[in-house]
Amino acid sequence: MATQRVDPQLRKTGIGVVGDVPWGTHFFMFYETKEDLLDTLVPYFKAGLETGEPCLWLVSEPLTEEEARNALGKAVPGFERYVADRSIEIIRGRQFYHSGHDLDLKQAIRNWAQKTDSALARGYAGLRVSAGTAWLERRDWNAFSDYEEEVNNCIGNWRMTALCTYPLAGSTAAEILDVTRTHHFAIARRHNGWEVLETSELKQAKSEIKRLNDELEQRVIERTQQITAANEEMRKEMLERQRAEEALLEAQAELARVTRAVDLGELVATIAHEVNQPLTAVVTNGNFCLRRLEGASPNLDEFRAAVTEIVSDGARASAIISRIRGLLRKGAFRRRELDINRVIQDVSILLRNELNRNGVSFRTDLKADLPHVPGDPVQLQQVLINLVVNATEAMRHAADRTRELLIRSAKTPEGVLVQVQDSGPGIKPEAAERIFEPFFTTKAEGIGLGLSISRSIIESHGGHLSIAPASRGALVQFTLPVSSEVLS
Ligand code: ADP
Repeated sequence: MATQRVDPQLRKTGIGVVGDVPWGTHFFMFYETKEDLLDTLVPYFKAGLETGEPCLWLVSEPLTEEEARNALGKAVPGFERYVADRSIEIIRGRQFYHSGHDLDLKQAIRNWAQKTDSALARGYAGLRVSAGTAWLERRDWNAFSDYEEEVNNCIGNWRMTALCTYPLAGSTAAEILDVTRTHHFAIARRHNGWEVLETSELKQAKSEIKRLNDELEQRVIERTQQITAANEEMRKEMLERQRAEEALLEAQAELARVTRAVDLGELVATIAHEVNQPLTAVVTNGNFCLRRLEGASPNLDEFRAAVTEIVSDGARASAIISRIRGLLRKGAFRRRELDINRVIQDVSILLRNELNRNGVSFRTDLKADLPHVPGDPVQLQQVLINLVVNATEAMRHAADRTRELLIRSAKTPEGVLVQVQDSGPGIKPEAAERIFEPFFTTKAEGIGLGLSISRSIIESHGGHLSIAPASRGALVQFTLPVSSEVLS
């Protein structure tokens, strides 16, 4: 059997104006001539056969079974095969509705259900029927109308499409209304073509579909608005987050700069203030002695007193210096067992922006599983910040050189080693001895305390800060022992 692929839910009616319909469609036509019937029913059954549906054509006047068979035979290629395998049955309508001489509409309903079942049992998707009603006698109209109503109600459960044909001639307005009421929709000839006439049920269904569509559209609009709003909200949040992150990075870099500046600045101010007093006294006493020396007979007691004061002021200044160094050593230590790689990583985060801004490409080479060392993370951070800032400043003036900074960590027999290497000009041998001295600087704006303080901090941890020979740039390194007798 020649079958075409069809949507399993929608059936092709073959009638142009109707198009495709779902299973369970019950529609009707009013016809005036035999041609009207053939014009619609031949394409209707042709489409049914060609889409693999078994067809049942209940013929009634003015058409005969033979005319129906001939017309369909002409229109459907291979029609005989469909007849042979009982895909098409053409019988007299009257016969279907009667048991003997009596109209038996209950039996007709059972027949439809049974015909559909047997079509399904034979492997078909459903059943296509058309039933003519010209044989119907006026006295049976009401019963038939009830029967049509029942079919209309049941057909939704059957896999069947049914096209009922009613002769227009002689139908009363009331009858036309009955038929309209008991079917889903109608087709009628108008202006030489066929048109679908809407019944109230079809209208209702259409308006229901329109309502659902409108509702759906509204829901889509609302959902789209919600999604757009949520997207906008998310975009704003992301922007805010990005701003916050940028602000955080800036704050971290600022903090790193301030940490160094404040500590050194404060230290210098303290030293200046504390040491200035004894120095002023030394100078005053010195001047007094000089003036007295110019006099005729210097009073030795006065001299002794002034020189004694000079000595004691000198000792006071020296004591102040050692007290500050002592303060630095003891610091407000918050010693704990720490992972030096973690300290390096924290400093890397703090200085990432600063390094980026200076065009420094930064790398770390950190050995895993280093032993933990006792230390004050803040002080060790300060040392690393000093070393990194020195390296960055050393590379700043080397415009033609690539600016590379590497921090390495490694295990030593005693504990850990940290190296900070840059690609700057390096440290000259004559300067190498002096760079750890307080106030030694080669920079116009330098204070010369960074390395000396760093060395004090490292030594207070029982370690050692030094410079090491390097293939390029400067390599400053420090060690930290696993356990240290903290100097105090
Ligand atoms: P400051 O940075 O204020 O000069 P520091 O004590 O930190 O004080 O450094 C002392 C000196 O050591 C610097 O002025 C510089 O001459 C030298 N120095 C330190 N680190 C480096 C380095 N990575 N490359 C070259 N010279 C350096």
